Amino acid sequence: MERDSTPVLKDLVLVGGGHSHVTVLRRFGMRPMPGVRLTLISRETHAPYSGMLPGLIAGHYVFDDAHIDLGPLARFAGARFIHAEVVGLDLQRKRVLCRDRPPIAYDVLAIDSGAAPTMADVPGAAGVVVPVKPIDRFLGHWEALRERTLAGDVRSIGVVGGGAGGVELILAVAHRLRREMRTKGRAAPELRFHLVTDADEVLPTHNPRVRRRFMRVLRRRKIEVLTSCRVTSVASGRLHCAGGQDLVLDEILWVTSAGAPAWPRAAGLDVDERGFIAVEPTLRSVSHAEVFASGDVAAVLAHPRPKSGVFAVRQGKPLDANLRRALRGRPLKPFTPQTRFLSLISTGNRYAVASRGTWAKAGYALWWWKRWIDRRFIARYNRLPTMRAPVGPRLDGALAERDVLDELTASDMRCGGCAAKIGSDVLGRVLDRLEVAETPDVLIGLQAPDDAAVLVPPVGKALVQSVDFFRAFIDDPFVFGKVAASHALADLFAMGATPQTAMAIVTVPFGPEAKVEELLAQVMAGAVEVLRRDGATLVGGHSTEGADLALGFAVQGLVDRGAIVRKGGMRPGDRLILTKALGTGALFAAEMRGKAKGRWIASALASMTQSNRAAAECFTRREATAMTDVSGFGLCGHLVEMARASAVDVELEAAAVPALPGALDVLSRGLVSSLQRQNLRARRAVRGTFAKDEPRYALLFDPQTAGGLLASVPGDDAAACVDELRALGYDAATEIATVRASAGDPEPIIVH
Ligand SMILES: Cc1cc2nc3c(=O)[nH]c(=O)nc-3n(C[C@H](O)[C@H](O)[C@H](O)COP(=O)(O)OP(=O)(O)OC[C@H]3O[C@@H](n4cnc5c(N)ncnc54)[C@H](O)[C@@H]3O)c2cc1C
Repeated sequence: MERDSTPVLKDLVLVGGGHSHVTVLRRFGMRPMPGVRLTLISRETHAPYSGMLPGLIAGHYVFDDAHIDLGPLARFAGARFIHAEVVGLDLQRKRVLCRDRPPIAYDVLAIDSGAAPTMADVPGAAGVVVPVKPIDRFLGHWEALRERTLAGDVRSIGVVGGGAGGVELILAVAHRLRREMRTKGRAAPELRFHLVTDADEVLPTHNPRVRRRFMRVLRRRKIEVLTSCRVTSVASGRLHCAGGQDLVLDEILWVTSAGAPAWPRAAGLDVDERGFIAVEPTLRSVSHAEVFASGDVAAVLAHPRPKSGVFAVRQGKPLDANLRRALRGRPLKPFTPQTRFLSLISTGNRYAVASRGTWAKAGYALWWWKRWIDRRFIARYNRLPTMRAPVGPRLDGALAERDVLDELTASDMRCGGCAAKIGSDVLGRVLDRLEVAETPDVLIGLQAPDDAAVLVPPVGKALVQSVDFFRAFIDDPFVFGKVAASHALADLFAMGATPQTAMAIVTVPFGPEAKVEELLAQVMAGAVEVLRRDGATLVGGHSTEGADLALGFAVQGLVDRGAIVRKGGMRPGDRLILTKALGTGALFAAEMRGKAKGRWIASALASMTQSNRAAAECFTRREATAMTDVSGFGLCGHLVEMARASAVDVELEAAAVPALPGALDVLSRGLVSSLQRQNLRARRAVRGTFAKDEPRYALLFDPQTAGGLLASVPGDDAAACVDELRALGYDAATEIATVRASAGDPEPIIVH
């Protein structure tokens, strides 16, 4: 992977891929800051663009039209993309706390993570009403609601909140559901829609002409409007209002004013009276100089404004400039947001009303204009200019102290050999942070390190050993550590062995001690988590400085002599089962070129970090006749090995081979791994009728990292085995081939 080779001097961490941060990311891609490592932490791989949400609900847009794909954007920015949820901050030690992974260190932190739902203070609402924020979660719920409505299970839907968001949402929901009911030949009038607001009128912050227009539209669409109704409680689908009115609904959507997430206040950041992060006009926290906040989560104390995407977008550019100034230790510049702005509010049916101050206008043309503006906004982030070339080491003197810079600029004279080892202090501190599992078989391990580890294998057990090592292909060191460990352990599982110990070999790019330590801690934390999960103990290793982050393991496992499962051993009549879908090679080749969707990469990583342990145990229980893990040689390469070792032929059903989301898409565009060409040499051992220009044919040769297991089981047990694997969580587990007696051909693999 081509990378900026400049040592890391400062860490800029962005929490949330909100509307201001996408601008910061794009601007970093256009004008990188060598020496600054940019990290984006986002709960979602795709950031929804709120302006297009009503159009998405109404059915005018599809998912990709209305979302910014954060993976390629982060890659364009040269940022590490960490797909995780932030749950807190350690402001003293300058760390971001994430769910299910170690904290991430920052020098400068920016938060643009949006608002939270505000129904917590309404008894009975939690878990019953559906908040529209966060939008990403709402969309999943919306799909389920559509299906239930079309199935006739939902008759009445209410939206609580009479601002622009609520009005647009109820109109979009009504438009879509009535149209789909009509298409299905169902009577649409049986659906009832309600809009509930505590204000005297809908759209209270807009001018009377806008309000009148919307009241007319709502009447015409037969949407009941309940004003001056402050919802005080919710019980079994019944809304109770302060004035005594009650409303019974099958589904309640919640679009009231934005609320603040709890974690910034809990962390100790100064917040305003509603809990939003209090910032200066420079967007810097009033309490913590190295923390910035923008968008809905922030409150600019000197310039209060409504929570709106418009302001978050406008803050992007000044935020970028002030983050750069803060990193260089330069004075910041204040930013004054505009007071009035144009709103284009849609009515669900490709019609919109424009509102600005006392001015209003309506029409179909306005909707198309809004569409043009919104699509142009999204295209700025989804259609990125050609990737920047990697840069060599260039250090900005303002980013660090003189002695640090002197040490780093002498890097080309840094020693190799043992002198390239990472310092013992750094290593010691990292090892202290790891939760290494203990096992009685380890006599001398990391608890009391010596020159080497000493193990006492149980009597009668055979020792199984394997080694793997590779360069990082993703930016998230913690997840890379998990993938590297999962990949190494796969060889042990494929032999039917139980992992026992692992020795790590790790290369970390050089940089200031604190940066090296943090990276090493992240990558090893991921690896140790997987080793623990799969029953192995880290007993030692070797670490060194180098150009790129790389990690590998020498792993040892134990197996009963009689229980070793080998590649040979397949018998005619056996069926071959593959436990994980293929496509990691092509997907990451596409990702490197910025051509893979973030959600494809997320599902590939989820598959890669899934343990092979339960699958191996299942195959062993079911007396698999042969087994291997699918890795670098691709499915066909491994099948050839198995067929030759077993002296049989294998009939492969190519159409049955499971593909990871997006894999066939990228293969059809000719995006393949650099190893594909070598793997295609296995074609010499392949014959059959399957079309060679099909992307699925290329998939058969795609090299896998941390791939699944491929095992042969007696034919009459195959279906039950697949059922068991799926119940164990291997959703892609599939029968893909049949073992036949050898016909004596030099090509033992027949692909249909
Ligand atoms: C139905 C509806 C329609 C709207 N229409 C418009 C409109 O037309 N125009 C307009 O200007 N405004 C509109 N708004 C308001 C708009 O949605 C918000 O003001 C805007 O999205 C705020 O942007 P943001 O950058 O603060 O955060 P967001 O856009 O909310 O982005 C925050 C991001 O941070 C991520 N995140 C959140 N929490 C965490 C965490 N703990 N860890 C990691 N990541 C996290 C989320 O996944 C999300 O991607 C609408 C709102 C609604 C509900």
